[in-house]
Amino acid sequence: MTARILLVEDEPDVALMLRYNLEAEGFAVTCTESGDEALDLTRESAPDLIVLDWMLPGISGIEVCKRLRIRRETAAVPIIMLTARGQEEDRVRGLQTGADDYIVKPFSVQEFTARVRALLRRANPDLVSTALRAGDLELDRVSHRVRRAGRELQLGPTEYRLLEHLMGNPGRVYSREQLLDRVWGSDVYVDERTVDVHVGRLRKAINRGRQADPIRTVRGAGYAFDEQFSAK
Ligand code: CA
Repeated sequence: MTARILLVEDEPDVALMLRYNLEAEGFAVTCTESGDEALDLTRESAPDLIVLDWMLPGISGIEVCKRLRIRRETAAVPIIMLTARGQEEDRVRGLQTGADDYIVKPFSVQEFTARVRALLRRANPDLVSTALRAGDLELDRVSHRVRRAGRELQLGPTEYRLLEHLMGNPGRVYSREQLLDRVWGSDVYVDERTVDVHVGRLRKAINRGRQADPIRTVRGAGYAFDEQFSAK
């Protein structure tokens, strides 16, 4: 079951970045930059979640939120408001208007996707898988535990996020730069070699003895979670 998300955001860079990351999580994303179009789009079929920017040209996010709440089809759809404003009164106003959550720009992609997942899970647990499994490797996104062949592994927070990201998108090759962006966050400055160091630690933590290595080094490109790993 693929969760469908409507993204209402007029800033192209932000829209692109959010769309990319939501799709990487396996969600189906529809984008619009206008509140009017968002209201039209939700008339025919309601999405599973709406990400709504507060400041939109034309009708504001707050107004869109109010109207969505009045309509029967969208009254219960989880809404996350995005805003550059951080004042407490705005926050209260956003939540009073019927938004379920509120996130202030700039925010980290990890925080954003974590909130999306949390809201979706609350609304319908079937929409969000809490565990990733491949072969004898299992990662639980709720408890943050990782097991291999039933044995619990001790991973540092960065190694955990690295594994979660790669495992959530098996077969997809990520450059070091992309991994820095997704796992460390774009506001952090670290050298690309840092990625190699943490991949090394991750491998050490998950592979014991002759166990197959699920992480693939792609020369000149980066790293991927081996999509053949389940079969090994
Ligand atoms: Ca905006």
